Amino acid sequence: MASNSDTGNGSGVDTGIDTGTRRGLLIILSSPSGAGKSTLARRLMAWDPSLSFSVSATTRVPRPGEEDGVHYHFISEAAFRQQVADGAMLEHAHVFGHFYGSPEAPVRAAIDAGRDVLFDVDWQGAEQIKHSALRDHVLSVFVLPPSIAELRRRLVSRAQDAADVIAGRMQKSWDEISHWHGYDYVLVNDDLDTTFARLKTIVAAERLRQAQQPGLVPFIRQLQAEFEEERP
Ligand code: ADP
Ligand code: 5GP
Repeated sequence: MASNSDTGNGSGVDTGIDTGTRRGLLIILSSPSGAGKSTLARRLMAWDPSLSFSVSATTRVPRPGEEDGVHYHFISEAAFRQQVADGAMLEHAHVFGHFYGSPEAPVRAAIDAGRDVLFDVDWQGAEQIKHSALRDHVLSVFVLPPSIAELRRRLVSRAQDAADVIAGRMQKSWDEISHWHGYDYVLVNDDLDTTFARLKTIVAAERLRQAQQPGLVPFIRQLQAEFEEERP
């Protein structure tokens, strides 16, 4: 059992726990489109390179700069349906007229190895993951914009979607926001540095939960044995 000063995941980030013994978390980020979850996800990955990003499959076309296999697996609708039929998706949903889903095998491999997995999924995906066999390892965070006007400004300033696509996403934003209460944590993403600092705090604390430390029970037994030995 490592002490709290250990950087147990080898990334230089203090988790307080050995990677060898701790279970991986499924960290879910959701928000209305444009609130900033991809930006926060990128920062989290840079902060802790031991995190594994769940690369979703989607039937939508790539945006400028998006790479197949990095941001998404861009696949046809037929291939998507086949993967769902094969039971290969941990969750899947129809969002903004396209299919999106999280392939299960890489998630299982990562959390079995004690690595945390980061998901950028909508509320439907979050619900399915929370009801899956992996539900005990879920940490869910909902990201809100500071105002609806700012949400629109961010969607426009991202400059990656056509005007009609932005209008469609704005129209659906309330659908997504209305599911905020189903999440463990809610962050208002006003100042990015402040929001990111809060997100890191949440992740660091959740990694220290009892349930995430299977090495605790043997450690307590060892303490007890030492205690018995010391007793006069
Ligand atoms: P999402 O993944 O939720 O759709 P993005 O992360 O792509 O949103 O962010 C949308 C736009 O808003 C991007 O141009 C991003 O740089 C910007 N952005 C994100 N967070 C903030 C923030 N706190 N303040 C100002 N701009 C932000
Ligand atoms: P975008 O097209 O902007 O990348 O994503 C649109 C929406 O789909 C976002 O709310 C995003 O979180 C969600 N999304 C992306 N990947 C998945 C996925 O694998 N499953 C689900 N349920 N939603 C996803």
